[in-house]
This record gives sequence, C-alpha cells and structure tokens, in this order.
Amino acid sequence: MSITPLMPVYPRCGFRPVRGEHCHLIGEDGRRCLDFASGIAVNLLGHSHEGLIGAIQRQAATLMHVSNLYGSPQGEHLAQRLVDLTFADTVFFTNSGAEAVECAIKTIRAYHAHVGNDHKFEIITFKNAFHGRTMATISASNQDKMHKGFLPLLAGFKYVEFDDLEGAKAAIGPNTAGFLVEPIQGEGGIRPASDEFMLGLRALADEHDLLLALDEVQCGVGRAGTLYAYEQYGITPDVVATAKGIGGGFPLGACLATEKAARGMVIGTHGSTYGGNPLAMAAGEAVLDAVANEAFMADVRAKGERLRSRLEQFIGNYPDMFELVRGRGLMIGLKMKFETRSFVAHLRDNHDLLTVAAGDNTVRVIPPLVIDDSHIDEFMDKLSAGAASFQPPESA
Ligand SMILES: *Cc1c(COP(=O)(O)O)cnc(C)c1O
Repeated sequence: MSITPLMPVYPRCGFRPVRGEHCHLIGEDGRRCLDFASGIAVNLLGHSHEGLIGAIQRQAATLMHVSNLYGSPQGEHLAQRLVDLTFADTVFFTNSGAEAVECAIKTIRAYHAHVGNDHKFEIITFKNAFHGRTMATISASNQDKMHKGFLPLLAGFKYVEFDDLEGAKAAIGPNTAGFLVEPIQGEGGIRPASDEFMLGLRALADEHDLLLALDEVQCGVGRAGTLYAYEQYGITPDVVATAKGIGGGFPLGACLATEKAARGMVIGTHGSTYGGNPLAMAAGEAVLDAVANEAFMADVRAKGERLRSRLEQFIGNYPDMFELVRGRGLMIGLKMKFETRSFVAHLRDNHDLLTVAAGDNTVRVIPPLVIDDSHIDEFMDKLSAGAASFQPPESA
C-alpha cells in the first residue's frame, strides 16, 4: 500500500502546526511562525481569542447539534443579526464556502423556475474565479486545472473576462439567469473589481431581470475593511455567499439573500444536516461580536493602509522581484515578476513567515484582523530579510 491515510490531494509543506498563540503558529518541531495566512483568510481573530474560545466551549457544553427538524433559537438570532447588518432579508447557513456558493447558484435557478422561467438557468461567471471544489462550484470556474479528471461539468455556466463589463453584457442571452462574481478575486490574485464593473453588473441585472450574486467567501466579514466588500462599491446585491472568516476557524458559511431573490427557496427545496447547528451559531455570534462594529472596521482599514504603504515603499528596493501592491483592507496582494510559490516557501522555511501563493504571480498577505503594529513590524522585518536572501528562479 503506498497511498497515505490522508488522501494525498494537498501538496502539504514541512511545517506542521500544533498550537496557535494569537498571531503566531507553533510547529511540531517548536518553530514559531508569524501567521499572515490566517488559515487562508479564516482566523480573523487570530488563534487565542478568548471571546471565540469561550463561546464555543460554553455552547459545546450546553448543546452542540440538533436537527433542522426543530426550531432554532440560535439560528434565528444569528440570522437576524446578519439581516440587520447587511442587505439581506434571509439567511441559509452552511458548513463551508462551496456550500454557500452552491446555495447561491440554487437560489438563482430557483428564482426563475419559481415563476415558470425554467429556461433561465445560465449563470455568467468570470475567468480565474474560485468558487470552491464541489461539482457545481468547479463548473462555475473556468480553471482547467480544477476540471481535469472530473468531466462532465455541470451545464449552465458561461465564463467572461473578469472586470470586463462589455464582455458580461455581450454574454447575456435568453437563458441567462444571473451573475456570480467575487468583488475582489482572492485565489485569482487579490484583484479588486473596478467600481464601473460592479455598478455595471448591477445595472445589467436590473435591466434583464437577472440576479447579482457575489462570492464574498474570502473578501467578506471585515477582511476588505468593511463588513462586506459590496458596501465599498455602493451596490445592493441580490445574493451573497459568505464563509471563511465568519466562523473565525469554526466551519461556518452562509448564503444571504433578499426576499425577492429567495422566492424560490421554499420548504423542501434545500437543506443541510449540520448547517446552522448551535455550536456553529455560537462561533458566528462571537465573530460578529468582535468584528461587526465601526470602530473595528476603521481599525482594519487603518492597519491595512499602514501595511500597504510600507509594502509599497519596500517593493521599490527590489524592482526586479516585485511589480505592485493591490487590495483592500487587510486583503493585500503582492504581485511579483515570477511565479510566487518558491518565494512563499522561502519565507516560510527560512524566515518563519506564513503567506499564501495565489494566481497572477501574487503573494496573498491576509493576516488576522487583530494584528497590531508590532506584527506589521515583524512582518516587514521577515519579508525584507526574505527578499534579501532570495534567489529568484532562472526564468525571472
Ligand atoms: C475559499 C473560497 C471558496 C470555497 O470555500 P470552501 O470553504 O473551501 O468550500 C469559495 N469562494 C471563494 C471566493 C473562496 O475564497
């Protein structure tokens, strides 16, 4: 037998974390790394947040899981908070981002089917998007590397260049049901959509009776400096998928929708055994307690600005390595002049700094939202040392 007990689908590195201390991770070998990866934009509150830990401990000891056969005071409470804080009128809880996007896709199709427009099933999505790894969510992305070996894909998706409003307009046909878009592409390389693009999609959706669904799984829950990124574009979406940060490390996602958009999501149309269980709700409440207030958001924006301006200054010292800095809030991309995986590995293995590689030659800088200036200093020291000691690949 040569297959490993853990199905070998991940290219795991040699760092093996066993403990978290605020914004640092400690490995099996005792090595202590600064965590500017946050479990890929998940650990918003770092690794030792007393509010989150206490909430999970108390709820675990009170009631962990019950079925959605029963009434849910816990789910009602968190859903009401999300409704009060966002555009949404209603919320479906999931356990992951892919499931939240899956629910968004079903919500779009059900919206049209509900009034007898079954022919309106096609969803326009955008190139280099990442929506998850289920069959529907890989079908929603044009990335061939995720499709290989899994054909046939789910029908009903059309891919258009990201941030190309004319392309999106031209793709609309009689079968079009809606748009699904990340306002800030994460996996694709921390690429914020332009205001014109997002406003334009909203206008096209209104004009053609399409639903505008946003995938805010990575950029939502304060990551980009507002509770949801759509707020910065001045638009009202119809559906938003959220996950990653919303549980602060506990598996939780949600599909938020307006009453109109959710008109097809009636009794019996959708479900999840775990979705919205009391333990997950306690985690979500604790995250919102910490994050969902203007003072916290303003602090994220201010820290984002400080980190970003230091990065902009820094890349000037290495014009052969770095191209630009982009992003919003504490969702920052460092675009390099070559594939970033070897640099990310170098920072991790030789400088005890965790970041995440992304598409478009971009290093993702996505720290916990609770960092302070000492962490920014430590990050810049480690990054500078890493850049100074790095041998760029031959092709660069
Ligand atoms: C991570 C991610 C997903 C998938 O979330 P999972 O929890 O891994 O299923 C979907 N969309 C975006 C934008 C993501 O970053």
